[in-house]
Amino acid sequence: MQTFKCDHCAQLLFFENNHCIRCGYLLGFSIEEGDILTLKPTKDSPDTYIDVSDPKGSQYRLCTNSIKYNACNWLIPTTESHEFCVSCRLTEILPPMQDETRRTQWVKVEAAKRRLLYTLIGLGLPVQSRVENPELGLAFRFEESTEDKPVFTGHASGVITLNMAEANATFRENTREKLGEAYRTILGHLRHECGHYYWELLVLPSEKWLPKARDVFGDERVSYQDAIAKHYADGAPANWTNSYISAYATMHPWEDWAESWAHYLHMLDTLDTAASYDLSMKSPSTKGRHRHLKASMRHRQDFDKLFEMWYSLTFVLNGLSRSMGMPDSYPFVISDTVKEKLRLIHHIVDDLAVG
Ligand SMILES: [Zn+2]
Ligand SMILES: [Zn+2]
Ligand SMILES: [Zn+2]
Repeated sequence: MQTFKCDHCAQLLFFENNHCIRCGYLLGFSIEEGDILTLKPTKDSPDTYIDVSDPKGSQYRLCTNSIKYNACNWLIPTTESHEFCVSCRLTEILPPMQDETRRTQWVKVEAAKRRLLYTLIGLGLPVQSRVENPELGLAFRFEESTEDKPVFTGHASGVITLNMAEANATFRENTREKLGEAYRTILGHLRHECGHYYWELLVLPSEKWLPKARDVFGDERVSYQDAIAKHYADGAPANWTNSYISAYATMHPWEDWAESWAHYLHMLDTLDTAASYDLSMKSPSTKGRHRHLKASMRHRQDFDKLFEMWYSLTFVLNGLSRSMGMPDSYPFVISDTVKEKLRLIHHIVDDLAVG
């Protein structure tokens, strides 16, 4: 992800900020501009805003989830009549808002979703709502399990469900330990589930890529139910790190694809962030104000160069974590087989992403 700064006082900002921590100006992210804008109200209406650095430019409104719950910082151009921003419009089910703890957890989930969407849109991957594409549009359901109705994190024909317990840090950490996982985050879940989505949307109908994907990940037509039963009975094969990014990926070709896909997004976003802080090794500059969002990831290099940078960067990441007495930020080892899986995803995204 690129870096952002306040156009009023030049303070560095994070993607999640909605007010400048130095000068207090209101901020909002414009997906059209691919940037955080520093805002002031227009003369005509206190509910419409203009970019202080471009006062003759577009006017914006705040997303209703920003006004009601302080849960969003994405803007809506006044030329559109939507109540919610591009991201919030994709949420179909959300937990009860009257409970503060659950509301706080939901806010974290929405923030992770906006990071996901930033990368997907930046890569030129289709992000359509169910209104635009009723059969295979993207929608999110953030649901709570009850005794009568357990909720499982998963994907079905564009609908991504997240069990809201995953937003509870204690639950998530306990589950991570229990399953022996190296890594478990909300963003990781969302990246994994959207991998299933893009498999269905892009790979499955592709005569060019489906056979190649089956060569590399295996034939996904083998029984998923049998695979689950076997995985939970026997666990992952002893030598799984030779061929898989995670133990979970060993379960079924679909899960291998989704785990590798999530990893590819981790890699691209983290490299993009490093480049924007001038941290990375010989990466293309992503400097420039108000450049189009797609410009950032459109500068992608060939896979080997990208992977080489990633390999070096992961040492920096883990070195920094260890200096702070924290566990490794990047607790993965990429085997040659996994590298080839990431390479295939890279080519598929390059070929099938639009825009
Ligand atoms: Zn400022
Ligand atoms: Zn919103
Ligand atoms: Zn999955």
